[in-house]
Amino acid sequence: MNTLILDALSNFRQLPTFGENKFNSIEIINNIENDNETFEWIILLQNGKIDNVPTRFKNVLVSDTSAENVLNVMIKEAKNSDNVVVVNATNPFFDKEFIHKMFFQHRDFLADYTYAIGYPDGLVPTILSLSCLKQLQAISKENSFDVVKCKNYLFQLLSKDINSFDVETFVAPVDLRIKRISIGNSDLGEFIFTSSLVEKLGVNIAYDDLANFLSEHSENLFSTIYTMFVDITDKEITSATYLPKCTSSIDFANVEKIEKIAQEVTEVNSKMRIIIGNKCEPMIHPNFVDIVNKFLSKGFEVIVETFGCELPENLNQLADDNVTFVFKIDAENENTYKVVHPSGDYKTVLNNYEKVKGLGFKTYFQIIRTIETESDIEKLIKNKQENILIKKYSSYCNVLDDKKVVDLSPLERFECYHLRRDLYLDSALDVYYCMYSNEKVGNAGEEKLVELINKQKKSFMSHAQGNMQDFCLKCDDYYTFNF
Ligand code: SF4
Repeated sequence: MNTLILDALSNFRQLPTFGENKFNSIEIINNIENDNETFEWIILLQNGKIDNVPTRFKNVLVSDTSAENVLNVMIKEAKNSDNVVVVNATNPFFDKEFIHKMFFQHRDFLADYTYAIGYPDGLVPTILSLSCLKQLQAISKENSFDVVKCKNYLFQLLSKDINSFDVETFVAPVDLRIKRISIGNSDLGEFIFTSSLVEKLGVNIAYDDLANFLSEHSENLFSTIYTMFVDITDKEITSATYLPKCTSSIDFANVEKIEKIAQEVTEVNSKMRIIIGNKCEPMIHPNFVDIVNKFLSKGFEVIVETFGCELPENLNQLADDNVTFVFKIDAENENTYKVVHPSGDYKTVLNNYEKVKGLGFKTYFQIIRTIETESDIEKLIKNKQENILIKKYSSYCNVLDDKKVVDLSPLERFECYHLRRDLYLDSALDVYYCMYSNEKVGNAGEEKLVELINKQKKSFMSHAQGNMQDFCLKCDDYYTFNF
């Protein structure tokens, strides 16, 4: 006996419907996999956000989404099976020919684990023997994590002891991994992207044709914004030598306008990550805590990037612990610090770093990798500096000198992650083409966020079709990302 498991654990709301017939992804699977010849048993694992489950499916609600529990549930539900095929239930593309080919190869070669590489995440199933599933469940006891946060959880567990398994691999006609594409309904961006693909290609497209299409038409990859950077002041404070001068026209961002933007963000992506501070110091804004709380109260994760020279007195009034502090210290000792931050004070910054940690906030020690800091990085690693973030140096499209230690850029250029995923605002709430360029494209205080995102979509499409801005041609930050 073989079981088809439809995994909808990361589904974020009711499944959308597609095409003239208005079928959702599980109805599409039900219609295509319409006999019980290959899979005698079909199970839907879900979080309660899907109504109207086809009666043929066993509907299983899972509230504990730890890997250990999810695998337990799978084993229990598929207990008499030889093999289980785990598909993303929120993916409307069900290429039966491809899936059956995978399955028969897995079964006939007596494989433990069969998967595909190079396709978009969430497109192609994973196949496991029941004994492999049990072994992964044993591994998960020591390495448990939330499967909603790690959708590739089966491979994550397998990779802990991959040599113990007989693994079969299917390889995509083009390797799309670098494009970081994800299909399904786990957030608004995935929903927008998947719906637009269905609109263009229909649901009956073969997986290889879909992969080829995405490789040739990467202008379609824009969905929505995932990270918004907001500089709420225009004060540089430490005159960091790896940052260009701020060009904002206003000292401190207007709190009412920030509140309007925070509200609009809930409408464009409720899972948006908010980064307060980028080139300038946020914690000297007189309403710093109030501004962070406006985003926290709407359920957003907030990351504060700070030079750490001054702390607001009311820092402990931050509403919850969904806030992280990144201290831009950039040195292991005072001498290097003075080179990188000529007007900062090393001891004060370290002291403030410890104070914020002491308040119980998640705190990181950041260092930009340059020719000036390279030996400090080695020392910090040797001294086991906790929570260290090593960040790539940017010349901001050749505005600054080249201080890179190594060139990690890919052999072939591809469309920019920042233009596809990020939005950058300065303290006047002016929106820029991206955080590395000086070109303003609008103002989030005056215009609707959704309109600004549409403008960015147009910029991305043009960029992905090869019409790059001059500053993009001088930039090597297109491959760094904040996913
Ligand atoms: S290529 Fe560089 S300059 Fe162009 S949008 Fe991307 S990050 Fe900005």
